[in-house]
Formats: sequence, C-alpha cells, structure tokens
Amino acid sequence: MIDCPNCGTSNPPDSNFCANCGAELSAARAAAPPMARPVAPADLPAFDPEWRMSDPGPLPEPRRRRTWVWVLLGIVGACLLVCIALFIWTATDSGQATLEDWSTRLAEEQERAE
Ligand SMILES: [Zn+2]
Repeated sequence: MIDCPNCGTSNPPDSNFCANCGAELSAARAAAPPMARPVAPADLPAFDPEWRMSDPGPLPEPRRRRTWVWVLLGIVGACLLVCIALFIWTATDSGQATLEDWSTRLAEEQERAE
C-alpha cells in the first residue's frame, strides 16, 4: 500500500495517482521501503564474487602476450630494416659513389695537409 503524500489515503501499490485527491504517488513509492524490488539482495553476493574472481585472471595474459609480440616484431623489423638499408647502401652505385667520394675527399685533404 502507498500512502498519499497529499491527503494520507492508502492506495494500491500499482497505482500511479491517489484515488482520493489525484496526487502523483511516484514520489511516495520511491520513498517507501523496497518490498517489491525484483532484485533480491541475497542473489547479488553469490553472483558477484565469481564474476570478480574470474574476470581479472584471464584478461592480463593476452594483453602481455600481445605487447611482447609487438615489441619483438618491432625489434625484428628494425633489425631487418637496418640490414636491408645497409645492404642496399653498400650494394648500389650510390653507396659505392659515396664511399669513393669519401675516400677521394680524404685523399685530397691528406694532399693539402702535406
Ligand atoms: Zn491523496
């Protein structure tokens, strides 16, 4: 039963307005003790610990594996890029040209020093 906050008349629990004065009963229903709540407090502790204990366990492992995989991939990729760049730089004509240019500059500087 819901007591009307306006006139005090007892109304049925499922009524939205007072049968005597027509005042809205939603405020009185919210302030009333929660006897008709669908979720019983006893059901929550049985479900909550299982969910909390099972949830954090399996989650961090895939994240760590994924980060390690990405770190390893980055290191391997960087090494491959450096090796490929060095191979291309030494194998191509431009690399040899820069090497010859560097050696000729060194020789010219030695000739000037002498
Ligand atoms: Zn009333």
